[in-house]
Amino acid sequence: MANDITADILIIGTGIAGAMAGAKLAQKGLKVAFLESGKRIERYDAVETFWNAKIKVPESAYPNDPTAPHPLTHKIGEYYQQMGPEDFKSTYIKVVGGTTWHWLGTTLRNVPADFKLNSLYGHAVDWPFDYDELEPFYLAAEQEIGVAGDSSEDLGSPRSGDFPMPMIPITYLDKQVGKALEGTKYQLRATPQGRNSVYHAERPECCGNASCIPVCPIQAKYDATVHVLQAEEAGAVVHDQTTATKLNLGADGQIASVDFRRADGSTGTAAGKVVVLAAHGIETPRLLLNSAQEGAENGVANSSDQVGRNLMDHPSKLSWAETAEPVWPFRGPLSTSGIENLRDGDFRKDRAAFRIEIANDGHSWPTGAPLSTASDLAKTGLRGADLDAAIKDATSRQIRISSLVEQSPDAENRVTLDPDKRDANGMPLPRIHFDYSDYTRAGLDAAQRAHDEVFAALGATNVNHSPDIQGAGHIIGTVRMGIDAKSAVVDADLRSFDHRNLFLLGSGTFPTSATANPSLTIAALSLRAVDAIAASAK
Ligand SMILES: Cc1cc2nc3c(=O)[nH]c(=O)nc-3n(C[C@H](O)[C@H](O)[C@H](O)COP(=O)(O)OP(=O)(O)OC[C@H]3O[C@@H](n4cnc5c(N)ncnc54)[C@H](O)[C@@H]3O)c2cc1C
Ligand code: SF4
Repeated sequence: MANDITADILIIGTGIAGAMAGAKLAQKGLKVAFLESGKRIERYDAVETFWNAKIKVPESAYPNDPTAPHPLTHKIGEYYQQMGPEDFKSTYIKVVGGTTWHWLGTTLRNVPADFKLNSLYGHAVDWPFDYDELEPFYLAAEQEIGVAGDSSEDLGSPRSGDFPMPMIPITYLDKQVGKALEGTKYQLRATPQGRNSVYHAERPECCGNASCIPVCPIQAKYDATVHVLQAEEAGAVVHDQTTATKLNLGADGQIASVDFRRADGSTGTAAGKVVVLAAHGIETPRLLLNSAQEGAENGVANSSDQVGRNLMDHPSKLSWAETAEPVWPFRGPLSTSGIENLRDGDFRKDRAAFRIEIANDGHSWPTGAPLSTASDLAKTGLRGADLDAAIKDATSRQIRISSLVEQSPDAENRVTLDPDKRDANGMPLPRIHFDYSDYTRAGLDAAQRAHDEVFAALGATNVNHSPDIQGAGHIIGTVRMGIDAKSAVVDADLRSFDHRNLFLLGSGTFPTSATANPSLTIAALSLRAVDAIAASAK
């Protein structure tokens, strides 16, 4: 069968993982083509769609498209076929530019010990390289994204150069928390962020209107359309509304072609000297497993039986309280500071580490404030100026913090294919089996104790801890990287052990979850893989 699309490098997915690598490969003169399930969206449409949405969840600006379906926070069981015992709660979207459209933009590096969890603490596994080897790529990724940060600040991850932009100013709320924590073991630090603090890369500086999730109306916040555009300017072609449905093997065991289906129902095949799969932590294993065939009976790239396994997140402990004095939340990006000095230590022999995010969004995540605040106060009988004053007082004192906890890799936490349910492209829906280890649960408990101490230092009252474990939106594991083809799916260059012209990019390749929000590490790994991908296309 003739291939409808041919390229040197065929990339599946235009999120930060695929787009950044694709831009660099196209700039090297290679012919790059992208297959992307989602459509191109206009920023103002996304903003308007969000404003008009009755239910405000991170995906509200990006309604589900039948041929590019994705999970929805408020109907999580519709797409994920949850097999328990815990629900997997993190989501993603399918549009050109991928999930960075609605990410928060926190861009922390891992700390060095994250790469050696097994050697140092006897837990989980080591990464196939250490921090020092990734450091130049972290630095490059910060330049590519455009990260605003304080280069002199010690965040536990040594730097060989400066951030490209000065830090986003921390909020009044951050300052009050920082002051209250002085002299305690909790050190508040400004968070590096993928948003402009000054006019940069032909995009404006952040104006602090707190709409980062689900959409930055002015693109002060980085999203991967930046690199989609760079790739296109260097000659790459993006085939949007085109879903890869199966990878086909040739007689040599390499990926010979990729079947796809367009939104209009037409089908075709695409081929590249090298195929790069960057469809994120659920869709990447889903496509590999859906490609089972002669020579790859358990799915493509799956001779190790690790495809789909070791699914992780940063299970989050969510807590909220009321401060004695106003801290004036609801201003600035949704989070501008965190407590980063608890992410490593000998305790990791026994329990998971965590980082604490200090939020600027009042009680909106846990309770739906300020609407819920207004409604609760109105129910007490308050009206008119009295109600107005009470709302102002209550909302000015709302504080929310949450901890992103490291999750242990566990082979039983996995994505498989549902035997019965299929989407409009004929692909089986993802089935998910998910649970938390005692190690991870001990980290969640320690996080709650830490939240109590932070609130106590602030003199906050009405302290609440969500009884549910929250998802962080961080989909990690499922195609792990390692040095041994028997226990890992890809090598340190993110190349499949089984099919040498196949590379897998994204947080699916992380052997452990660490505690840093994953996308800066995704970007650094993509940049690190570029030379190996380019060499394979010769
Ligand atoms: C609410 C929220 C907040 C977040 N905040 C942060 C944060 O502050 N910091 C941070 O580091 N991370 C954050 N994340 C996580 C971050 O958004 C993701 O880690 C990152 O965007 C993943 O990038 P990716 O390129 O691997 O995948 P994606 O961006 O999801 O891109 C994958 C692309 O592949 C396409 N695709 C999928 N299957 C197919 C197929 N079969 N054929 C063709 N195309 C396909 C999809 O349409 C999509 O465009 C957040 C996530 C959420 C949900
Ligand atoms: S605060 Fe507003 S301008 Fe700044 S990144 Fe968030 S949405 Fe964009």
